[in-house]
Amino acid sequence: MPRQSLVAANWKMNGDLAGIRELVGEISTGVEPDASTEVLICAPYVYLPEMQRLLVDTPIKWGAQNVSEFEKGAYTGEISVSMLKDFGCEFVIVGHSERRHVFGESDQQVAAKFNVVNKAGLTPILCLGELLEERQGGTTEEVISRQLNEALNCAGIESFENAVIAYEPVWAIGTGHTATPEQAEEVHAFIRLQLARHSDEIADRIKILYGGSVKADNAAELFSRADIDGGLIGGASLVASDFLTICQSTR
Ligand code: PEP
Repeated sequence: MPRQSLVAANWKMNGDLAGIRELVGEISTGVEPDASTEVLICAPYVYLPEMQRLLVDTPIKWGAQNVSEFEKGAYTGEISVSMLKDFGCEFVIVGHSERRHVFGESDQQVAAKFNVVNKAGLTPILCLGELLEERQGGTTEEVISRQLNEALNCAGIESFENAVIAYEPVWAIGTGHTATPEQAEEVHAFIRLQLARHSDEIADRIKILYGGSVKADNAAELFSRADIDGGLIGGASLVASDFLTICQSTR
């Protein structure tokens, strides 16, 4: 059975209440309900109640960009997975490169977040990706394996039954230097192969998104590759017409 595609917006720390209302209005008016493609918006925490209000009767899902690895307690400033559930989130991005490299999240911490989201019945979007110097040094596969294995060891292969992976080369995020479809496909196929060592069925079923300067004019070519099941979209998801074009590029 062909895998359903997923196009996920990562708005990062952008927008304000008025702007978000306008953008959601434009996106939800333009999205054509389509069983072959799921559309998701990962908004800043404080706007999640508003996302729920605006999107509850639309085919668009909403989710968070991060979560605490802890269930509850004395963790000032953190947000728990049960809080995200209260506002109807179904997806949570974990291990985005900005969390890993700007905020110093370790592979272990990302794996713990993956586990917490999974156990709560939400879908983690586990981001994996190498730095420019790692690609240039020929260690891309080593880095991807290390990041993936940490989640596998912590949560087990069965947790990948309800998970999404996003391959996001760090050198491509927000830089305009998109990976070529060949470069992206090579890593996606590698990730699927690593999972197949544990379960062929899960490896075959899991969605692997590409992220890193996906734009309206390069999405279709990336999404046409066998192992690329959609995208995680940063900058281009803040412009409704561009995001809608990207959503339509999965077909
Ligand atoms: C991202 O934030 O996950 C991302 C891929 O950003 P951009 O599309 O702007 O490169």
